[in-house]
Amino acid sequence: MRAFGTTIFAEMSALAVQTGSINLGQGFPDTDGPAAMLDRAIQAIGSGANQYPPGPGLPELRRAVAQHRADHYRLDYDPSGEVLVTVGATEAIAASVLALCEPGDEVIAFEPYYDSYAASIALAQARLVPVTLRPVEGRFTFDPDELRAAVTPRTRAVLVNSPHNPTGTVFTREELEVVAELCRERDLIAITDEVYEHLTFDGVAHVPMATLPGMRERTVMISSAGKTFSVTGWKTGWVCAPAPLVTAVQTVKQFLTFTASAPWQLAVAYGLRHELEWVSALRSGLQDKRDRLMEGLAAAGFEVLRPAGTYFVQTDIRPLGFTDGLELTRRLPELAGVVAIPTQVFYDRPERGRHYVRFAFCKKDEVIDEAAARLKRLS
Ligand code: PMP
Ligand code: GLN
Repeated sequence: MRAFGTTIFAEMSALAVQTGSINLGQGFPDTDGPAAMLDRAIQAIGSGANQYPPGPGLPELRRAVAQHRADHYRLDYDPSGEVLVTVGATEAIAASVLALCEPGDEVIAFEPYYDSYAASIALAQARLVPVTLRPVEGRFTFDPDELRAAVTPRTRAVLVNSPHNPTGTVFTREELEVVAELCRERDLIAITDEVYEHLTFDGVAHVPMATLPGMRERTVMISSAGKTFSVTGWKTGWVCAPAPLVTAVQTVKQFLTFTASAPWQLAVAYGLRHELEWVSALRSGLQDKRDRLMEGLAAAGFEVLRPAGTYFVQTDIRPLGFTDGLELTRRLPELAGVVAIPTQVFYDRPERGRHYVRFAFCKKDEVIDEAAARLKRLS
């Protein structure tokens, strides 16, 4: 694991604290989740939910997850056997890759990709095969031929993240169908990271891969509460998949963490059942924040790409006269008192993302406005 060092999120958040900069780097909101859900966690602690929950997770949360999948996506999962609670989506991804890949297997992922994918694949001694997303008319997408060409006899799985961090792309049904067709034809598993499932804008709907024909049986569907309810520190996630796949993932999970913390599970079960209106308001508020930050970044001289989902805006820094995002983000605290994330760190081939920088907009309006004002110092 030597090559992995410290994550960019840890590096940049530390830089923000050290320099007193505004942190638009690591994606976490600066306001809390729904008050009644927070109270439910406190109540859970007060009423004795403080010992080990069952390995697969508390039945209350497994049932709430299954109900939510049924209500939103018409997907049926059996809460006993097809739903597994994990320590955030991060553990779900790692346990899935470790469970389903043998050393030497290949896993296709779209670059830029969330940093834990490469590390999880390395832990499994499998190989990440990147397929690059490129902007076409301002929206990052992939070339279907490049994806097809990436499949080999060693390909075991495709890791699909939609809504996509860090580009903000929400894959269309047609794009997902290209992946699905390959999975069916070449007998591949889809591991889907859907943590931003509720955070989509402009009326764009999230389509889960498992809803496509023939995909429920070969999809490991992953999500978590962090983004949906603005509780990224609760680290409560889940896997939904057919029983043999969930059993494999649980076999790994039990030796990583055995089980996830109890109080959050009860509170998240409450959230999934009672706070989806709160989530709708979060989504429309975030859409306004996206527009606000995009405007500020454009006024500061960045070329801005409009995301259809997530917490993040991609910018091209070349109009400001910069060419290397890593260099710029390391100097940004001193130049403007702002912290951002260099997108190139999410690529296997960093040169492909050298001129992109990611900014998070899941922040109070006044924080976004102050950051935008400071970034004007760049031009
Ligand atoms: N996947 C993506 C795409 C993410 O952005 C994140 C970060 N929140 C995660 C997974 C990890 O989620 P969790 O905090 O639930 O582990
Ligand atoms: N998902 C968050 C982001 O992309 C960070 C999570 C982390 O710090 N590992 O900014």
